[in-house]
Amino acid sequence: VCAGTPCLTAGALSILDSLREALDESRLAVEIEAVACGCMGPCSRGPLVKVRQQGKKEIIFERVTPDLARQILFSLVKGRRPPTVSALPHDFPFLARQMKVVLANSGSIDPERVEEYVAAGGYGALAHALHEMTPEDVCREVSVSGLRGRGGGGYPTGVKWNLARKAPGERKYVVANGDEGDPGAYMDRSVMESDPHRILEGMALAGYAIGAEQGFIYVRGEYSLAGRRLEAAIRAAERTGLLGSRVLGSNFNFRIDIRTGAGAFVCGEETSLMASIMGRRGQPRQRPPYPAQRGLWGCPTLINNVETLATVPAIIGKGGKWYAGIGSAASKGTKVYALAGQVAIAGLIEVPMGTTLREVVFAIGGGIPGGKRFKAAQSGGPSGGCIPAGELDTPLDYESMQRIGTIMGSGGLIIMDETSCMPDVASFFLDFCRDESCGKCSPCRVGTVEMHRLLRRITGGAATMDDLAKLEELCELVGAASLCGLGMTAPNPVLSTLRYFRDEYVEHISRHR
Ligand code: SF4
Repeated sequence: VCAGTPCLTAGALSILDSLREALDESRLAVEIEAVACGCMGPCSRGPLVKVRQQGKKEIIFERVTPDLARQILFSLVKGRRPPTVSALPHDFPFLARQMKVVLANSGSIDPERVEEYVAAGGYGALAHALHEMTPEDVCREVSVSGLRGRGGGGYPTGVKWNLARKAPGERKYVVANGDEGDPGAYMDRSVMESDPHRILEGMALAGYAIGAEQGFIYVRGEYSLAGRRLEAAIRAAERTGLLGSRVLGSNFNFRIDIRTGAGAFVCGEETSLMASIMGRRGQPRQRPPYPAQRGLWGCPTLINNVETLATVPAIIGKGGKWYAGIGSAASKGTKVYALAGQVAIAGLIEVPMGTTLREVVFAIGGGIPGGKRFKAAQSGGPSGGCIPAGELDTPLDYESMQRIGTIMGSGGLIIMDETSCMPDVASFFLDFCRDESCGKCSPCRVGTVEMHRLLRRITGGAATMDDLAKLEELCELVGAASLCGLGMTAPNPVLSTLRYFRDEYVEHISRHR
């Protein structure tokens, strides 16, 4: 039974209870176990139940009720075919068209049993690195893979690791950034909930590569389930010698602690995140010095996003060249997206870099519901921009997305149909940035308030063309003069909707004149 947050919200626990009660009541001649697992992907079709039988193809059932769960169970007990009414076909495109590297175990293993992660090959890459590779080898393999930061920046991970490895310092730290705050994005949450050991293994590999003995996972405060599963995973890994002193019988020591955020979006920015870990107010500071030079408590600190670290075990296990063989010329590997909004099947997907938006929305996501037309996709959350229908064939990779005025971001994709008003969409994201501005620098603190006021005048029908010109001027100013990424990118949703849907802004203004 999928026990990711979307399915739990849809009632997965009552299904698990119902199955376990039924198993307790019946005297079965066959061995059946009802277990919780991580996210299976098609979240809007939940609660999801997967039936796995020896020698047979797996079947996933959608929108399962407690009654249907019992029917499925009893048909299995009696050796009959389970009811097909809610079974997804084996070639269900949402699943069949994906390529899972980071999500390889999600929906297949119980995230609370370390032995299941190990049985799936988990901690094999760490054992290989500790016993057969030098730290330089590990950094080299990550460089060869071409992996780039999945948190949004797209900075080459191998370069970052090498900087941290070479930085002088007796004490170093590794930080997993799990403070995912973009509206509509839940990639990192799902990986933390569904496959926590993959992140721990990635962090331990990073620690070995740069010479750190301590790691921190910074988990968004709202992600209580992710925090609990990570905590349980750390304790299980320590009990079994996979973390702690002399990891896997080597001379490498590595401990991981969790730090929980308190709901500030700006703490996803790495200098604020470090301030928060150290118990200070979560506000950004000027860079340089960069965290790899001077991070936590003045020591070199490697900060990677959760998805980036979760990719590393596969790279070390299968080789950097293998990973570099996936994706497009400058954007290697796969990317996890949270597909949300007006799309037939919303959920979590992983596809090779360079897959087109058309493939994602129509082939995988099943298109736009209600016979409506696709209008745009918002990528990269409040720092990103929109992709209009004319760019549906744009490959989703760092360079192509930048070319059309948006960013990959962390992987949130909000799909909008023809009924969406683009100035309203921009206003929503700007409202978010205005609320989340930490107030440290005036271009962002004052600029986002004023930009939002002008946008509200436009959407409310009280604006003139002068207001639009002022808004554009402010976008330039706030983007250029803000201290951190939040303010620098806050104008992006306005600029990109203006680029592709300027007529809607003008229409709002002229309609009410
Ligand atoms: Fe704070 Fe905004 Fe300035 Fe960043 S840009 S430091 S969030 S006020």
